[in-house]
Amino acid sequence: GYRSRAAYKLKQLDEDAGLIGDGDTVVDLGAAPGGWLQVAKELAGEGGTVVGVDLQRIKPIDGVDTIRGDMTDAETREKIVARVGGGETDAEGDGGVDVVISDMAPNMTGEYSLDHARSVYLARTAFETSLDLLAPGGDFVAKVFEGPDTNDLRANIDREFEYVRTIHPKASRDSSSELYMVAKGRLTAPVREGD
Ligand code: SAM
Repeated sequence: GYRSRAAYKLKQLDEDAGLIGDGDTVVDLGAAPGGWLQVAKELAGEGGTVVGVDLQRIKPIDGVDTIRGDMTDAETREKIVARVGGGETDAEGDGGVDVVISDMAPNMTGEYSLDHARSVYLARTAFETSLDLLAPGGDFVAKVFEGPDTNDLRANIDREFEYVRTIHPKASRDSSSELYMVAKGRLTAPVREGD
């Protein structure tokens, strides 16, 4: 069994959008307790690399690497780059991260506009991290609670990828306002200092 019902959301997103392939390098942000990590490892297979990051400790999963840290700290983002490399691609077209997925969510206060704003901030943090990590052609997924700032976020993401869709997985509770931004095909490698 999976550690979270969230696992079924990632399965659906992957079925809809074709995200994780055999041998892929996947970075999962907000990964505790680890349901998405279990699904990502199944899809990426033995030859894949899966790294999960969370504020909370993640109980070990075979073949999965974890980092404990706050994604809003630059230091945590640097640790990820040190672990998996940035978006640079070698002559064979290998290297860089294939997929960045984020299920990060704020602690809910019940105050709609505050929860929405915090969720957009976490999704933006994930988006910026994806730009540091993804190889050209790489894909990005982030959870966001729907609200007035969702469209701006979507437009920003759209500029960096071939296209972006918003998906409300059936495994999400019907009443929930959570959406996933699913962006396919990172357009260019990041411009890095010293290049
Ligand atoms: N996808 C996970 C699974 O399948 O088990 C469930 C993720 S849960 C919905 C959201 C997670 O985001 C929580 O574990 C929380 O600690 C994490 N989170 C929230 N803010 C974060 C931050 N600033 N940095 C890292 N993780 C964060």
